[in-house]
Amino acid sequence: MSLRKNLVFTVIAAVSILCGCADKTNNDKNIAVTRDVFAMDTYMNLKAYGKNAEPALEEAEKRIHELENELSATSEQSDIWKINHSSGEETAVSRDTAALIDKALEIGNSTHGALDITIFPVLKEWGFTTEKYHIPDENKLKSLLENVDYRQIKLNDKTVSIPEKSEIDLGALAKGYTGDEIMEVFKSHSIDSAIVSLGGNVQALGSKPDGTNWKVAVRDPFSPENDMCVVEISDKAVITSGNYERFFTGDDGKRYWHIIDPADGYPADNGFVSVTVIGENGLNCDCLSTALFVAGIDGYKDIMMDYPNYDFIFVTDDEKILYTGGIKDKFQNISSMSAEVIDID
Ligand code: ADP
Ligand code: MG
Repeated sequence: MSLRKNLVFTVIAAVSILCGCADKTNNDKNIAVTRDVFAMDTYMNLKAYGKNAEPALEEAEKRIHELENELSATSEQSDIWKINHSSGEETAVSRDTAALIDKALEIGNSTHGALDITIFPVLKEWGFTTEKYHIPDENKLKSLLENVDYRQIKLNDKTVSIPEKSEIDLGALAKGYTGDEIMEVFKSHSIDSAIVSLGGNVQALGSKPDGTNWKVAVRDPFSPENDMCVVEISDKAVITSGNYERFFTGDDGKRYWHIIDPADGYPADNGFVSVTVIGENGLNCDCLSTALFVAGIDGYKDIMMDYPNYDFIFVTDDEKILYTGGIKDKFQNISSMSAEVIDID
C-alpha cells in the first residue's frame, strides 16, 4: 500500500475511533462514521452521517460480503462458479445473480456486444485472474473466442444455463450493483447523507450534511497518482474504467490491460484510456463504463445517445478530455489536458 493510501487510512481510522461512541449512536449529524472493507479484490471505504450511521455501515458491510460470495468468479461457493462448472446444465441462482445477468444481457445488446460477460476464458488466458500474466498465442485467442457470445446465455427467472465450453464473470458490473445495494441499505436506516468509494467507483446518497454537493475527483489516466478533474454530484454514482487500473507490461515493452475487446480478444485499444460514467444507477454506470471503453472513439456516440440521463467523461489516447453538456457547470478540469464538451451531432 502506498504511503498516501496509508495516510488516508490512518485519518479514516482516527475519525472512526472518534465516532465509536459507546452507545453506537452518532448524534452529531455533521460527523461522519466510516468503515474500510476489503472485498471483491478492492479497498472500499464507506462513510455515512446521521444517528443510524453505525448500524447502517454494519449492515452494508454484511451485504458487500454476501454479494461477493454470490458473485465472485473465483470462489468455489459462488453462483458464478456453479454456472461455470455446470457442464451446460441449468443452475439455480440468487435474485442478485439473476438481476446482474439480466442487466449484462440487456447492455450486451445495447452496446452491440462490447460488454460480453462470456469473455472470462480470454481474461484467464491473459493471466488477469491469477496475476501470472502472459501474451497469449493468437490462435489460442481465436479458439477461445469461438465460445465467447453472451447471446448463448439462457436466463429463465432464477435459473441460468450457458454452453459447456463458456464461462462468465461479472467483474465489469458487480461493483456498480454493490454501490446501488449499499445505497438501499443506507436508505432503509433513514440515512440521507453518505458516500462510498469502491476502488474507482464512487456513489453518493443525497448531498453533504451541509447541503452542498459532493466533489468527486477522477484520476488522470496518464499519471494515476494525480487527479484530472473534479465533478460535483448528489445522489449519483461516478464510475470509471481505465487502462491504468489493472495491467502488466509485456516483454515487448507494451502495456496490456484488463478490459478485453470481444472482437479480437486483445485489451481494448480503440482510442480511449479512460471512460467515466455519471448517473443515478450505479449498475448501468458500471456496465457502460466498461462497454464504452471497448466501443471506443468510433462507437461511443451511438451508444451514448441511448442513455440521455447519464453523463460521460472520456479521455482519449492523444490526451484530450471529452465530456457531456449535462455536467458543464459541475465539471472542473484540473489537468493540463484540453477539455471540450462533446458535440452530439
Ligand atoms: P474495474 O472493475 O476494474 O474498475 P471495469 O468495471 O471496467 O473495471 O471492469 C473490468 C472487468 O470486467 C475485468 O476485470 C473483467 O473481469 C471484465 N471484463 C473485461 N472485458 C470485458 C468485456 N468486454 N465485457 C465484459 N466484461 C469484461
Ligand atoms: Mg465497469
